[in-house]
Amino acid sequence: TSTNSLSFSFLRITFRSTRRFRAMASHVVGYPRMGPKRELKFALESFWDGKTSADDLQKVSADLRSSIWKQMADAGIKYIPSNTFSYYDQVLDTTAMLGAVPSRYSWNGGEIGFDVYFSMARGNASVPAMEMTKWFDTNYHYIVPELGPHVNFSYASHKAVQEYKEAKSLGVDTVPVLVGPVSYLLLSKPAKGVEKSFSLLSLIEKILPIYKEVVAELKAAGATWIQFDEPTLMMDLDAHQNIWANHLASSLATLQTLEGIVGKDKVVVSTSCSLLHTAVDLVNETKLDKEIKSWLAFAAQKVVEVNALAKAFSGHKDEEYFSSNAAAQASRKSSPRVTNEAVQKAAAALRGSDHRRATNVSARLDAQQKKLNLPILPTTTIGSFPQTMDLRRVRREYKAKKISEDDYVKAIKEEINKVVKLQEEFDIDVLVHGEPERNDMVEYFGEQLSGFAFTVNGWVQSYGSRCVKPPIIYGDVSRPKAMTVFWSSMAQSMTKRPMKGMLTGPVTILNWSFVRNDQPRYETCYQIALAIKDEVEDLEKAGITVIQIDEAALREGLPLRKSEQAFYLEWAVHSFRITNCGVQDTTQIHTHMCYSNFNDIIHSIINMDADVITIENSRSDEKLLSVFREGVKYGAGIGPGVYDIHSPRIPSTEEIADRINKMLAVLETNILWVNPDCGLKTRKYSEVKPALNNMVAAAKLLRTQL
Ligand code: GLN
Ligand code: ZN
Repeated sequence: TSTNSLSFSFLRITFRSTRRFRAMASHVVGYPRMGPKRELKFALESFWDGKTSADDLQKVSADLRSSIWKQMADAGIKYIPSNTFSYYDQVLDTTAMLGAVPSRYSWNGGEIGFDVYFSMARGNASVPAMEMTKWFDTNYHYIVPELGPHVNFSYASHKAVQEYKEAKSLGVDTVPVLVGPVSYLLLSKPAKGVEKSFSLLSLIEKILPIYKEVVAELKAAGATWIQFDEPTLMMDLDAHQNIWANHLASSLATLQTLEGIVGKDKVVVSTSCSLLHTAVDLVNETKLDKEIKSWLAFAAQKVVEVNALAKAFSGHKDEEYFSSNAAAQASRKSSPRVTNEAVQKAAAALRGSDHRRATNVSARLDAQQKKLNLPILPTTTIGSFPQTMDLRRVRREYKAKKISEDDYVKAIKEEINKVVKLQEEFDIDVLVHGEPERNDMVEYFGEQLSGFAFTVNGWVQSYGSRCVKPPIIYGDVSRPKAMTVFWSSMAQSMTKRPMKGMLTGPVTILNWSFVRNDQPRYETCYQIALAIKDEVEDLEKAGITVIQIDEAALREGLPLRKSEQAFYLEWAVHSFRITNCGVQDTTQIHTHMCYSNFNDIIHSIINMDADVITIENSRSDEKLLSVFREGVKYGAGIGPGVYDIHSPRIPSTEEIADRINKMLAVLETNILWVNPDCGLKTRKYSEVKPALNNMVAAAKLLRTQL
């Protein structure tokens, strides 16, 4: 039943064969590190900007660690993790621990400090950053180790030991957490110049001695337990289910069943995966509706749930806590705010039939080109432009009703106008309005759709200091009115060039939200697809001829189990097609994807049947190009990102031209687009202006040579 799968979705019941674990043991696998109010983010960013010192950063970090340890100790958790904190990413921490610094960062040995560490993470003025990729099917990005036979491993970061000692000095005996050696190697890639066929696992012999040193040092410091995270051995994380309150009664029943099988002293109650991927604390959600709140549990509440279960399991059941949990579960089942019959019906009717555009893609592209009349290697951007402090302030003040709607519209209009003029100045071919009215590409839509709820502090780390605040989909989704037509038509009226309408696709809205767990994910996805379809058609009616439907996160919803992938891809791709199956041939549908490793899903991507796809690949050209080199036929427009927007580094014209040339070697000239690899909202204008100038210059240079 759904209640049973709910209870399993976040509880991992761990068996240990040792006698040291006694009844009642409770354990937490990992915890969010940004802080309840994103304290770490702000400390990192001001340190990077040179506004605060390394000491300041260290102080904020130590305070965060100690409050987490204290909170878990107070809750009664027995096995409290340490070394789950990171200044950027735990895989990069492991790279530092093993001294596997790529030579371009000119590290000369010794303990790795902030300069080398952050250069690897973010690049610096002269060297680009290391590649970043998604951690399994989450929206968390880790820094990919670059390994090969040449790497001289050495014990170069004592962070795990330092954190253990730090907790101990605060009176908390922790379980240090290390990325396990097998997963570390399997999550890495061969460094530049190393044979693709090089067996990364063959390095195990070289890294084990360092793990040994670390373990010995931890042992000497007093650690009795060490947790090795080996997720590649399991391939079984279900991170995106994380925020719903557990059905305590059924979990307890499960525990009792297990007890009957293995005996009480071998059962440890734990979270199903690291709480890194969930929001921090419901306590800070003062604006959330009370009823909805009762259905939820964030990291801090899960710690309490785990402990309550462990206690109940050993005979000390908190009756009041259990009965209020049962009441919340019952209210969720029967609440009218969850169900909308009409939406349920419309979504159910979609299943079983196909939805695609009537004309094939090459004929559509011809029709569109007649209308759009674009040069070869057309230039565009992915959507957002830098979000300045002023802009954020205007949005905040409008939300808080401190400025009038008129003033707000005026301010946003000015910003759009500025962005439009700038793009015309750069001579970009297909323009964007810059998304100044959007805080976040999912939140913006969720706020205008019914069935969504929002938190104030429900942040989850995405990469480095970047966090996202996923909306919560608790009920049936519908679109009360048009969401983007006002701004898009305003922007189009400012220019003769095509202005892209900018939407977030259903699969991405789904994958970047906390999704209800009381109906299948595809059901919710179809509901969102119908809402976006209405928006696409309203944009078209308003005269927008190019519409981009971002499916940035399509791949990250891909189940890790191979047997489940085909089904997911089928309904995900179907959902995308539902959104635009009704437009005219001359309306050009773009989509954008935030990853390059789609070699395994390329046929599904083709099956999305978009007219143009832009892809984030600039940290890994090779992977992407190999798909086409291996002979995959691709006839739609394609814009592999020509530079990395995640790094402050400004690419030169030559460098961009060089990349375009590489792509031209495997792709037809008439389908290639030139664009950055993702939205520009996190960058500064001082970076964006020269970069876009160089990008257009490179496209123009190549046009003269073709
Ligand atoms: N259109 C969005 C933007 O430019 C896409 C962002 C993304 O791919 N993550 O911000
Ligand atoms: Zn992107």
